[in-house]
Amino acid sequence: MRFISTRGGETVSSPEAVVKGIASDGGLFVPEQFPQVTAEEIAALCEKDYPERAAFLLGKYFDEYDPEELLAALREAYARFDDVDAAPLLRMDNGMYMLELFHGPTCAFKDIALTVLPYLMKKGCEMLGIGEKILILTATSGDTGKAALEAFREKEGVKIAVFYPEEGVSKMQKLQMCTTEGDNVDVCAVRGSFDDCQNAVKKIMNSEQCRAAIAEKGYRLSSANSINIGRLLPQIVYYFSAYCDLVGSDQVKVGDKVDFAVPTGNFGNILAGYYAMRMGLPVGKLICASNRNCVLTDFFKSGTYNAKRPLSRTMSPAMDILISSNLERLVFEVSGRDAALTAERMKSLSETGKYSLRAEELKKVRESFAAGCVTDADTVECIYDFFIDYGYPMDTHTGVAMCVAQRYEEKVAEDVNAEKYPTVVISTASPYKFPQDVLYALTGNDVKDSYKGVKRIHLLTAMKVPECLKEIRYKPMRFKTVLPADKIYDEVQKFLG
Ligand SMILES: *Cc1c(COP(=O)(O)O)cnc(C)c1O
Repeated sequence: MRFISTRGGETVSSPEAVVKGIASDGGLFVPEQFPQVTAEEIAALCEKDYPERAAFLLGKYFDEYDPEELLAALREAYARFDDVDAAPLLRMDNGMYMLELFHGPTCAFKDIALTVLPYLMKKGCEMLGIGEKILILTATSGDTGKAALEAFREKEGVKIAVFYPEEGVSKMQKLQMCTTEGDNVDVCAVRGSFDDCQNAVKKIMNSEQCRAAIAEKGYRLSSANSINIGRLLPQIVYYFSAYCDLVGSDQVKVGDKVDFAVPTGNFGNILAGYYAMRMGLPVGKLICASNRNCVLTDFFKSGTYNAKRPLSRTMSPAMDILISSNLERLVFEVSGRDAALTAERMKSLSETGKYSLRAEELKKVRESFAAGCVTDADTVECIYDFFIDYGYPMDTHTGVAMCVAQRYEEKVAEDVNAEKYPTVVISTASPYKFPQDVLYALTGNDVKDSYKGVKRIHLLTAMKVPECLKEIRYKPMRFKTVLPADKIYDEVQKFLG
């Protein structure tokens, strides 16, 4: 399949889109069209396991890749998960469904795509005859960093550097990243926010000068963030997979609609849901859930994206984001794929912090999306109530989604014109990844030590502690660098030697 830039001009093949990560004009790659999945095909997918579902759906985009090799790579990736299913769907006693995406090697949903990305990239380089090594720069609000480090560490011909906001990740996330082994990895704390990290990385990727200097050292730049299509497309699969599991357990019939509630930061996860919908998955609404940083809720309400506001630090740090990169892809679609207009809006965003949709575009957006935001106090209450009432512990991000989903359901129940569909809440992280905040939500107790939190949550919930979080406890902290955002490029040069 061919991919085009949201800002016009460039058309590339799927391996090129993966290897480049971002278009030369600063835009994001999007598929030239959305491949369609028929009702018969959905019914057939329901008979298959997760890797087969993934191979079928991804094969429609990555048709330059060998289908059998792709399936083998997917099987290998998902064999590393600690559940037989990479994305198990659970029925909750409140009638909602929980799609658990945290069974991968680093306990967050980023593993779903990042365990597959090394194959897509390596094979892509081979197909394109690229001889240089790859340098992957990653801005992270905590979870992408570790998932990318685990995916690429000790991989030949690749180096990876990760930048995270010094004050913007949980202690456990920091431990996970800074104890990563391997000679080809670098991890740095940045004095600033996730947006500062993401801007700095994007700036390097868009600079001819930086690219040339890095090329001189024998490297090509790429990205493991969800701006990379290789990160985004594997996330489409779990929307179909959840739907198939609902069909398989007779909860819905093929063709019935389902709502998805998604805890949202950079808009990558929920955008994959939108792509699934465009491919033909029967979706009612995609419910975009935010914490106090309610830029997206305001956008869906007013049609104006306004990032000019202070960032709040919350209990759901992976969602403490003001510039949601992947929204560019949605804005491109609803503009009728108007690349010039999209480029203009993104220019306005970087210069003034704002842009607005036209009324008919906003109407289109609202047909597919609902949105809501909640405070930390709301989230704590929701996690506590849910555990007491239904015995299921949630992480703080999933708690945001559940809280927003419950409010949405209440609103729909009151509205005689609104249609009510089954709701799937997307669970993006293990509660053990945010042990202090989760323990606080469950008991009201504060503990300083992450592992004390882990132990108490385990005693309270009897939920299994994931191996990957257990084993880092006694590993040395290898990375201690802290730098301002404008020194990220210097660090990259140092890293390359
Ligand atoms: C990354 C992340 C999110 C936000 O996902 P986006 O794709 O950035 O919207 C939500 N929850 C957790 C736990 C995450 O790691």
